[in-house]
Amino acid sequence: MTSAIDIKLGFDNSFASLPDRFYARLAPTPVREPRLIAFNRALAADLGLDVAAIEPHAAALFSGNTLAADAAPLAQAYAGHQFGHFVPQLGDGRAHLLGEVIDRAGRRRDIQLKGSGQTPFSRRGDGRAALGPVLREYIVGEAMHAFGIPTTRALAAVLSGEAVFRDEILPGAILTRVAASHIRVGTFQYYAARRDVDGARLLADHVIARHYPDLAKADQPYLALLDAVAARQAALIAAWMSIGFIHGVMNTDNMAVSGETIDYGPCAFMDAFDPNKVFSSIDQNGRYAFSNQPTIAGWNLTRFAETLLPLIDADSKQAVAAATEVMKRFTPQFDQAWLTRMRPKLGLTTAEDGDAELIGELLDAMHASHADFTLTFRHLCEDASYALEGWMAKWRARLAREGATPATRAEAMRRVNPAYIPRNHRIEQAIAAAVAGDFGPFDMLMRVLAAPFDARAEFAAYAEPPQPKEIVTRTFCGT
Ligand code: AMP
Ligand code: MG
Repeated sequence: MTSAIDIKLGFDNSFASLPDRFYARLAPTPVREPRLIAFNRALAADLGLDVAAIEPHAAALFSGNTLAADAAPLAQAYAGHQFGHFVPQLGDGRAHLLGEVIDRAGRRRDIQLKGSGQTPFSRRGDGRAALGPVLREYIVGEAMHAFGIPTTRALAAVLSGEAVFRDEILPGAILTRVAASHIRVGTFQYYAARRDVDGARLLADHVIARHYPDLAKADQPYLALLDAVAARQAALIAAWMSIGFIHGVMNTDNMAVSGETIDYGPCAFMDAFDPNKVFSSIDQNGRYAFSNQPTIAGWNLTRFAETLLPLIDADSKQAVAAATEVMKRFTPQFDQAWLTRMRPKLGLTTAEDGDAELIGELLDAMHASHADFTLTFRHLCEDASYALEGWMAKWRARLAREGATPATRAEAMRRVNPAYIPRNHRIEQAIAAAVAGDFGPFDMLMRVLAAPFDARAEFAAYAEPPQPKEIVTRTFCGT
């Protein structure tokens, strides 16, 4: 049995006031021997939580063994297209939303446990998570935040003291995740698949109020919602790609309508640049390859558009025509977002017509020379040649039309080109050590990634690509 404790986290729940069919109310399943691995005090403080009051109870609270007095735990319903195949019922099969808090900046944020036990949505799953994927989500999510890219975050990680059975026996763990919300494209698909137009409208109104409050006044709020969600996804995917990130499982249930990156599974950052790069062991056809991500985002958003059609116009032909017009804007929106992210990486503060080609030629040259994605851009900050001589001449000619001094430009470029990324081999080393009981490498990696743009002599080894024997070619969901 879960026990309650006389601590309040200041929950102010809105999702729980939606109708019963949106979720299943139930408590997490307690674990044998919870042990705190990590507690993100800075984030806790941002959330307005009482860190000193929580800390002595952190292992119990962030395992779900103990519930805050004001928690109202529930598992959310959702559906989704997985690798293109529609599954009408997925849902939180191993997660419990504890509640929502209003953070110090006035933003509403979910606090959710992941790996906290079975729910009515578990299907054949055990409701649990293994330590490795919990640490990967913790590391990559916090790094993403440090890069300034919208993301769910990690508030805590706890060892469960129980084994989980995957291909092997692994230590179990629970992640506490913070998100603007956990509402996904797949959440909309859940109601659309049931022809539950009232449900879809309630959900859309909730999402507008929560994430896009300005749209409530729009002439056509649901059409405007489609446009706004698409714009945030265009910006998000461009941001990912600007740092060599591959999400790995861009199923519609893993795309948050808030515009945050969600569900870090077999995700990875590239070392050597290859536009066709795939890491996920389950993505055999390269559906979610690096350069396919904008196309897939567009595909997912079209599925989102379909769920909104009955809300957009009672006349389905009119609704399709209006939604199609909005969706036509996605590719140009992405192209613009890509330029907005990439120009500063090259020290460009002005826009010229040839910039997209200049960026494309750089990437082609990097691909041809197997250049390390992160190091190439970091070296460009120092105007250092990196086997790209022909391209550098064009770049310098373009820079000559920019105003900034070289020193100012170099400093600005170092603020957008990270020195450190969560390189796969470092993540794997941190996980392997943790599974063997040593959390030192995990803690160290978190320190390095806390300020990824500031090169520090003592962290120099973390900027390096893997040695040939350290190269990670596959990442696993491990779910
Ligand atoms: P994911 O691949 O983590 O995005 O999960 C896809 C779906 O499978 C979601 O409905 C999850 O809740 C569910 N799921 C994943 N792993 C488990 C597990 N170990 N137990 C129960 N459900 C799971
Ligand atoms: Mg998921």
